[in-house]
Amino acid sequence: MNFILFGPPGAGKGTQAKMLIDKFNIVQISTGNMLRDEVHSESELGKSAKSIMDRGDLVSDNIIIAMINKRIQMSDCNNGFILDGFPRTLNQAIELDGLLEDLNIKIDNVIQIEVDENLLLERINKRASENESIRNDDNSSILKNRIKVYKKDTVPVIDYYRNLKKLNTINGMQSIQKVSQDILNIL
Ligand code: AMP
Repeated sequence: MNFILFGPPGAGKGTQAKMLIDKFNIVQISTGNMLRDEVHSESELGKSAKSIMDRGDLVSDNIIIAMINKRIQMSDCNNGFILDGFPRTLNQAIELDGLLEDLNIKIDNVIQIEVDENLLLERINKRASENESIRNDDNSSILKNRIKVYKKDTVPVIDYYRNLKKLNTINGMQSIQKVSQDILNIL
């Protein structure tokens, strides 16, 4: 089983990805987590990505595609994967199609977790206050930029999958359990 999971910052994507990983014994491929690892290890890639991430802007497509290309071919992906936070631009989605075709891999489901913008701000503020500085980009002014970037660059990607009739939309303003159940019902 291979999935793509969409949702704006604070939609609960991480939580639902964990549920799917356990349920289907697959791996999560989070470009955000991969980039944060690069930042922590102070690699060249991490150094160049840090300021972009701290602003809530997007890292260049070339870097992201190269990361995904390498990751998706690792043996732990054989049983399936969840793409979390990728593709984030139309160009990334098109590059992904080519990559998957070359590797003869199919995406089984594209899931969008939809959440109202005000609720997102509320959730992120809560996350920031409960867990101090766990993420540099978890504060409301940067979050606003991340939501703006999501609308500008990522909503067209969602439309792309909708037009291909691959998209399933879930109401993310319900309890975690209900969101999980709705996702499982679709699958
Ligand atoms: P996330 O944890 O998915 O919210 O990602 C954190 C940050 O990493 C984003 O705000 C971007 O700066 C960067 N990032 C993660 N995934 C991508 C992607 N697919 N394309 C470009 N930038 C990304």
